Amino acid sequence: VPIREAQSFCRICAGLCGVDLKIDEQDRVIEVRGAKDHPLSQGYACIKGLQLPEAHNGPTRLLHPQKRLPDGSFVPIALEQALDEIADKLRVILERDGPESIAGFRGTQGYSTVAANQMLPDWLRTLGSPSFFSTMSIDQSAKWVNFERLGGWSAGRQPFADSDVLMMVGGNPLVSVSVFGFPMFDPTKQIKAARERGLKLIVIDPRRTESAHFADVFLQPYPGEDPTVAAGLLRIVLTEGWEDKTFCARYADNVDALRTAVLPFTPEYVERRAGVARHKLREAVELFARQSRRGTAITSTGPNMAAHSNLSEHLFECLNVVCGRFLRAGEPVPNPGVLQARRPYLEQVIAPQRSWERGHKSRIRGVGTLFGEMMSGILADEILLPGKGQIKSLFVDGGNPVNGFPDQNKTVAAFKALELLVTIDPYMTNTAKLSHFVLPPKIFFERADLASPVYETAVFPLPFMIYTPAVVKPPKDSDLVDDWYVFWALAKRLGRGIVYNGVALDMSNAPTTDELLAILARNSQIPLDEIKRHPLGKIFDVEPQLVEPGDPRTDAKFAVMPPDVAAEIAAIFAEPFDAGCSISNGQRFTHRLTSRRMRGVINTTYHALSESRRRHPFNPAYLHSDDLAALQLKEGDMVDIVSDHGRIPAMVKVDAALRPGVVSMTHGWGGMPGDVADYEKHGSSTNLLVSTERDCEAINAMPRMSAIPVNIVKASSQSI
Ligand code: SF4
Repeated sequence: VPIREAQSFCRICAGLCGVDLKIDEQDRVIEVRGAKDHPLSQGYACIKGLQLPEAHNGPTRLLHPQKRLPDGSFVPIALEQALDEIADKLRVILERDGPESIAGFRGTQGYSTVAANQMLPDWLRTLGSPSFFSTMSIDQSAKWVNFERLGGWSAGRQPFADSDVLMMVGGNPLVSVSVFGFPMFDPTKQIKAARERGLKLIVIDPRRTESAHFADVFLQPYPGEDPTVAAGLLRIVLTEGWEDKTFCARYADNVDALRTAVLPFTPEYVERRAGVARHKLREAVELFARQSRRGTAITSTGPNMAAHSNLSEHLFECLNVVCGRFLRAGEPVPNPGVLQARRPYLEQVIAPQRSWERGHKSRIRGVGTLFGEMMSGILADEILLPGKGQIKSLFVDGGNPVNGFPDQNKTVAAFKALELLVTIDPYMTNTAKLSHFVLPPKIFFERADLASPVYETAVFPLPFMIYTPAVVKPPKDSDLVDDWYVFWALAKRLGRGIVYNGVALDMSNAPTTDELLAILARNSQIPLDEIKRHPLGKIFDVEPQLVEPGDPRTDAKFAVMPPDVAAEIAAIFAEPFDAGCSISNGQRFTHRLTSRRMRGVINTTYHALSESRRRHPFNPAYLHSDDLAALQLKEGDMVDIVSDHGRIPAMVKVDAALRPGVVSMTHGWGGMPGDVADYEKHGSSTNLLVSTERDCEAINAMPRMSAIPVNIVKASSQSI
């Protein structure tokens, strides 16, 4: 029986929907509804958010820290005792193996607690460790490579709100909600409203997704052919002379070399290789470059997880560059930020930095760092390779890399080899099961939080900000921790100080979460106390800002054709291809496996919640009915999916939205390797099909985690 109500916001995904809560006499959240008064989400909340009462109060939640015993079982341990024992082990490792041997990984749910999001990298810094990893290099590091290699634009791209056109590549916000460049609130309503005002939508995806149903032009290439399609689109623009010549002359370097490099990607070639009809390719690019004056091409996890992800990202962004789809001097800045310090937005290129060429280099293939992070594709090797710098201890905050990382077998072997694995997670995930200590944190409505100051202008189309206090207490008799406290408390035990977001913390008395949030908000354009006055947040009246003319002393230009990009274009053109089959590691394959999203889960989390389980008990392999007929299969049959690296079981289902030759499965599922008998309970890990040694991007070690060449065979007796 509810005895009080409260308001807060969901932090499962970047949508950050406002929610109305009902709370019972035991101070438990018993009902979550989308809050109609929230200025942006306006009553929307998805199935994941609506299940937050179960996430808080369900039987699978851990309420006490756990310590693993030598026989693999776990026993509860008091938090401060666990931290003492962890610190003792850390002291030994630090002294013996040096700071690089201590690593941290920020998972999807680690982003959802803003205070900890900052504390983990600051803690590693205080130890002197460069070994910081995150999900960013699981699915989106091509965006970082692109910014550092092509360059950026100080004022940002033209916004969705006043665009005539949007080209969306490999993203499906109607299911995932979070697609950068698309408003992350009630996506169906957003797409309908935008079309109502005249937006034209171009969708490029191997599956006619829920979002593609709203497309004016839909291209359905074979998976993994994004760079071919992008090069074909650029070729048409640059040979027809549809580029913005003034913008190119002023802000892009070597456009002629780009024009020459894409010349071989004729519409006929794109049709043969990518399976996109030449007239559809032209229709798409005419709509984008010729008939529309404003609007951008945006890429999502599809192209960012497939082979040649850096080249895909580069070429699609080049489409924005040659068409000049960036804000210019005199135009209003849609969101000057609320928490961020005010900064000028300039009509100016941010020159390419190629930062991975400097600074710390991994022992694995010399892979560099991007934005202060090492690349997750080489974490398991950094643990397994003996020698100076070997990672001996890993702290996982809010993630489940056993299910999220490429080559699951290698990941599990690596985690078993660690001297100290600590996981901060509310549930006993596969990663937690391998951990020496599992520290369950306070979650969502039990902790104060802010929307992220780092992502505010990327996520919110307007100067919106929201703060929530903790609205309920943690469950009675529980021993839960704020994620950030783990790192502060360990630094204290090791006799180190922490400089948190540039501010030295008092190491004798732990700060409160509110004090940490105040540090993050210290340069805010609106006082934090004013933000706190609005339980569902507010679009704040910050001083409007216009894009300013660029600094005349800079002549920075977009590097549209640096030598490594030229080599990558030549390399993909030289690849053998054969319609109807793929060649990988010298073997021929009949299908390509792509990743797809499910509404009820996000990456590796929330699979166990009852409504999510009812909808998605496991991750089927979706195929076109023509493929089922050709393979003499029927819906519900078990198959083995075989790549050049591994083999997984799956149950087949029909999806008429796919093109034949494509199989699509959701990533993030599966038990431990060897648990295949539990397919209907856990699903299968597509990461067993992925090598971290072949088919990886050179700069960021990003493996081919989607568009994987596979064969489909009737299930072998061992696998079901
Ligand atoms: S879209 Fe769903 S998961 Fe994301 S913030 Fe909103 S309710 Fe939460």
